[in-house]
Amino acid sequence: MNEKQRLEGQQVETANSSDKKSAKDYSKYFEQVITAPSLKEAKKRGKEEVKYHNDFAIPEEFRGMGNGRKFYIRTYGCQMNEHDTEVMAGIFLALGYEPTDNTEDANVILLNTCAIRENAENKVFGELGHLKSLKLEKPDLLLGVCGCMSQEESVVNKILKTYQQVDMIFGTHNIHRLPNILNEAYMSKEMVVEVWSKEGDVIENLPKVRRGKIKAWVNIMYGCDKFCTYCIVPFTRGKERSRRPEEIIQEVRHLAAQGYQEVTLLGQNVNAYGKDLEGVNYGLGELMDELRKIDIPRIRFTTSHPRDFDDRLIEVLAKGGNLMDHIHLPVQSGSTDVLKIMARKYSREQYLELVRKIKAAIPNVALTTDIIVGYPNETDEQFEETMSLYREVGYELAYTFIYSPREGTPAAKMEDNVPMEVKKARLQRLNALVNELSLEAMKKYKGQIVDVLVEGESKNNPDVLAGYTSRSKLVNFAAPKSAIGKIVKVKITEAKTWSLNGEMVEELEPAEVK
Ligand code: SAM
Ligand code: SF4
Repeated sequence: MNEKQRLEGQQVETANSSDKKSAKDYSKYFEQVITAPSLKEAKKRGKEEVKYHNDFAIPEEFRGMGNGRKFYIRTYGCQMNEHDTEVMAGIFLALGYEPTDNTEDANVILLNTCAIRENAENKVFGELGHLKSLKLEKPDLLLGVCGCMSQEESVVNKILKTYQQVDMIFGTHNIHRLPNILNEAYMSKEMVVEVWSKEGDVIENLPKVRRGKIKAWVNIMYGCDKFCTYCIVPFTRGKERSRRPEEIIQEVRHLAAQGYQEVTLLGQNVNAYGKDLEGVNYGLGELMDELRKIDIPRIRFTTSHPRDFDDRLIEVLAKGGNLMDHIHLPVQSGSTDVLKIMARKYSREQYLELVRKIKAAIPNVALTTDIIVGYPNETDEQFEETMSLYREVGYELAYTFIYSPREGTPAAKMEDNVPMEVKKARLQRLNALVNELSLEAMKKYKGQIVDVLVEGESKNNPDVLAGYTSRSKLVNFAAPKSAIGKIVKVKITEAKTWSLNGEMVEELEPAEVK
């Protein structure tokens, strides 16, 4: 849905939709449904043109709405959500609100949620339970739920029935409507729900407050069209929409001029970047080739889908410079049969061939991955194929998950003959292998001098600084605080499974980029 459709009154369309099975009658629970979500609507992929807007402004009547008020946003899930929080924080500041890091001081609390696995959702429901007493103490407090969970019908229904302390629910496609939603929530006695099931337009000039001054996230595209059979993201984030290259390049230039040291380009499937841009043959390879000429020390991207990882991108990444030698390349399973059921659209052999090409072009590359174990009916042999692929690729790290059924996805309807104890045992074995190879990779750094982008004090010891190498290895070392925000040379003295310890080996001057 875009602004025009909204104004033309697509409202409550989902509540009255002919899709009786998935669109529920939300209105019986409360009076003020503005727009409720529908997974069926979210699944549709239309040909409508994506419109680009540069005209976001805080409506006159809402200016000063936040004067004397404070906001608090708790973020769950991926970098995309973290970055959405930066945008919402920008809107709050533009409305006159002040930030607070304490829920008790806040006049508005938002939970920016993640729907990727059941335990991510349970955390949010738990938090809503905790916040109930605060809401009882402070009836004027506004409590909102936004992000991916809001895009799910079942979640919205559950909140409506069980969590009446919530004042507003809005989704991932209408963040720019936050001023209107807040206003509605202040005026109304009922819960305000505005969730667009169809993705909105691309809005370029939303305000944002970045969390730090060293590293920045830059969206290059929104949504996902891959529909892997286990995944809720294509439903919660809509169809693939690429930002225009000139807007991205300008944003990165601006960040470089502000002194940022690192930019991570964000998308659910960044390798599909550009496919939807009309009339141009322009992909992630072309974009990276332009960005590498910008004077910013480090550029990364996440997340890559192996299927769209093309030779042009490999060729550009091999040029090095400020393009980092770490690629996160989720494989999900080492079994061609499981990959087929997951609809990943590559085989074990095709994935290994891609890895071979990447390693040939970028010999120093660090590869990391995501793996799901215990997919419905995954056999012992299929799991062993994942284990053998892990060793064969020689990943330096992995995020590993037990499969979690997500309502509305094809996998959630599959019968599953794998008991939970078996899934847990497989995860344990895989994690042991992940740890083993991680330590092996870390040990190779002993005695080496590496460039570390210093991010701040170590979480466990304020006398120690912490930062990351170009290949995303965490390094802890003693150094003056003036090193924070700089890239410095550090000699590695000790290797652990998840981090390195070292000593700074230079006078404090910005180091040359490798
Ligand atoms: N777009 C990325 C890709 O294609 O690899 C992944 C994005 S997703 C936010 C991050 C990871 O969560 C996935 O790579 C997958 O391993 C995991 N994941 C997604 N859905 C899952 C599910 N239903 N159960 C368990 N893990 C899941
Ligand atoms: Fe989900 Fe990634 Fe597959 Fe898209 S490509 S459906 S985000 S796992």
